[in-house]
Amino acid sequence: MENNGEEKRMTGQKICLKCVMPESKPEIFLDQAGVCNLCLEHAARAAAPAEKALETDFTKVLAQHRGKHEYDCLVMCSGGKDSTASLYYMKTRYKTRPLAFTFNHGFETEDALANVKKSVEKLGVDFMLFRSDFMHEMFAKILKTGSKAVICHLCSIWYMDLTFKMAERFDIPIIIAGWTKGQSLRQPAMTKCACDSSASEFLRMGQATREFITGHVHTDPKYKDFPSSMEEVLARAQKRHKCLVLSPHWFLPYDAQEYTGTIERELGWKYPARSYPAKSTNCDLNFISAHNSMKFYGYTHYHVEMSKLVREGALSRAEALELLKQDFSKELLDGIAAPLGCKADGSPLTGK
Ligand SMILES: [Zn+2]
Repeated sequence: MENNGEEKRMTGQKICLKCVMPESKPEIFLDQAGVCNLCLEHAARAAAPAEKALETDFTKVLAQHRGKHEYDCLVMCSGGKDSTASLYYMKTRYKTRPLAFTFNHGFETEDALANVKKSVEKLGVDFMLFRSDFMHEMFAKILKTGSKAVICHLCSIWYMDLTFKMAERFDIPIIIAGWTKGQSLRQPAMTKCACDSSASEFLRMGQATREFITGHVHTDPKYKDFPSSMEEVLARAQKRHKCLVLSPHWFLPYDAQEYTGTIERELGWKYPARSYPAKSTNCDLNFISAHNSMKFYGYTHYHVEMSKLVREGALSRAEALELLKQDFSKELLDGIAAPLGCKADGSPLTGK
């Protein structure tokens, strides 16, 4: 258990009594009753009835495209429960012809990749793994410059751009993601974590990421064509090849507990031994990214995401708090950063 000043400051934070957001001004603040502004905004919005996504909406879209291409859909598979369940349902429930697609920037865990391998073999679906060190120098630069840019935001831009290019290459009309209801609300800019950079809780994070792209990414010849935002990824993709991005979880009648049981039973899916938040299949860099977000912002995008799940009743507050706990050792963080040629705090590998 790391017990430096930072850790104490974190544990000393006040946490919303309804969800799991730590108070961190100016974005996140609690009222006198100890309830955060995100919960209050949610309560205000909930007064207006939300449009319900029906499974027939989804099957209609699938019917429009089915059988017209070599593959009906490209399924993004991280090896996590949500994306594995997506692949499972696209094959078994919706009877489509999917191409499973996994990207690995070098930090995906063996456990996650093993889940993908088992699933594609059991389901008998075609599978493509894309492994690249392309992002390494960018990740290293974030650490070495002490940038407050969020690693996951930059990574999302890279892999969504890549996913659209793969859909284009194989002329696939639909991209299937494993996003759950808490992670995305079918907003135009979709990322794994659904970080809507215009939302108040992501303002500072979004700004730091944009500044990093302008100051450190586009100035490097290797990255001069790197999209400057998720919006740009989408705009470029739409010009090259029209395709939809959907998640069956927006339409399916199952909750996470149910479909996790199904893929454990049917595909031999397993929770990875080590991940942040616990029980996720996020890559190892998440430990560093989440550690830095706590240091720089007082919360992570996972706090925002899980808060949504707690508000929607999909996760208990106690369970979310347990999953979000950070007690990373310096050895763990430095070990993860080592392939980038520096320690997790950006200092050189040798010496102090
Ligand atoms: Zn709250």
